[in-house]
Amino acid sequence: MTQVFKFGGASIQDAAAIRRLGELLARFRVRPLVVVVSAMGKTTNALEALLAAARDGEADDYRDRLESLRREHLATVEALFGANAGPVAERVEALITELDRRHRRHAGRERPFHYDQTVCFGELLSTTIVSAWLNEVGMATEWLDARELVATDDCHQAANVDWAATAERVRGLDSDDGRIRVTQGFVGGTAEGVSTTLGREGSDFSAAILAHCLDAEEVTIWKDVPGLFNADPRRFDNAVQLERISYDEAIELAWHGAKVIHPKTLRPLQRKAIPLTVRSFQDLEAPPSTIGRDTRFDTRTPSLMLREAQTLLEIRPRDFAFMDEPRQHDILGRLVEAGLHAGLIDSGAMRLSLCLDGHPERLEPLVASLCDDFAVERHDNLALLTVRHGNEALLSALSSGRDSLAERRNADTAQRLFPGDQCQGTWHIPY
Ligand code: ADP
Ligand code: ASP
Ligand code: MG
Repeated sequence: MTQVFKFGGASIQDAAAIRRLGELLARFRVRPLVVVVSAMGKTTNALEALLAAARDGEADDYRDRLESLRREHLATVEALFGANAGPVAERVEALITELDRRHRRHAGRERPFHYDQTVCFGELLSTTIVSAWLNEVGMATEWLDARELVATDDCHQAANVDWAATAERVRGLDSDDGRIRVTQGFVGGTAEGVSTTLGREGSDFSAAILAHCLDAEEVTIWKDVPGLFNADPRRFDNAVQLERISYDEAIELAWHGAKVIHPKTLRPLQRKAIPLTVRSFQDLEAPPSTIGRDTRFDTRTPSLMLREAQTLLEIRPRDFAFMDEPRQHDILGRLVEAGLHAGLIDSGAMRLSLCLDGHPERLEPLVASLCDDFAVERHDNLALLTVRHGNEALLSALSSGRDSLAERRNADTAQRLFPGDQCQGTWHIPY
């Protein structure tokens, strides 16, 4: 049965990292194997900046940004292939030329469409280099265009997967001819062949889509951490690794902001009971985390998620009305239209409170529209802490010295919203 490996930007950020990836794949010789790869390092951010320069900026800025993307990818190719760099460098040059051509061709189209036609080049470039490098070190590969594999609708920047069409398109990819199949994460394509993307950080989801459609045996996502922790180890100095948790629990953690796994990744795997392993590409001996059906370990350790740069909107009717269902329906409808997610929703007789990611492009039009019809009080720069399976003592120790601006609680989840400036720096979990 097929295995799916996914490598994120950090694991292929430069020539040294791509070499290590080759060594890793030489060691884990599973077949059939599909390898899903993100864009190198921070290339997607660079492509977003390139798009902004093309649409709203100076022509020189666009030129400089395109040139540095070209230079960085070519430098990696030269560092890897040395005297043999020619053919791969030519392919990289061709992709950069195509990127430039598409930018110009689509400059007049709506932004989300233009975004997808250009930002997908990060993954097209990285997979071209990675696939060629694996060949160079003796592994046969087949480079596959994810736009022809992952079938989606045309909801640009957040495309919805057509599962039946994708299953049809990937048929045969699980045949064992010894070759590693290398494809792009994050990227899909419509029935008409138009490029789409699945949302930022969507490569984990791509791996799950392919695994689901191929009835894979297992998905492994290789990270710069040994596995899934009960809090972000970069922010919480005594976070502990969760070696085994269930799909449901992992979905809750991802949904509430554990940035290690894209929230959409787990459902397609759960449906087919395909285990997900999260492990380190830096320390191959480190015990990984496994997400599967077993629920026995879910409540043993409290988990903490911190979402920063949040905005709280307290929305009240202007007249004598209550915040009744029709008004809530109206407000939540506008939220959906703005493409925003509320990490916390709380209501009272005359108030609806929403805690939103402070995503300015989407938030400002929403606030403007709400202000037309409601009294809106706004608080910016907040931090939303979510605790799963925490007891009262833990919650009050975490809240000590911090002002709670809103909260919500049910049997296993507690959320509190604090001023962002009270949440900076490294946290210590008072177990
Ligand atoms: P990718 O290379 O796949 O893009 P990410 O950078 O998105 O990987 O995810 C890895 C990072 O996720 C880690 O460096 C870590 O700081 C962060 N992270 C956040 N929450 C958690 C958690 N609960 N467990 C492990 N890592 C976490
Ligand atoms: N390259 C995309 C991003 O940076 C997708 C991913 O890395 O998962 O968002
Ligand atoms: Mg990432």
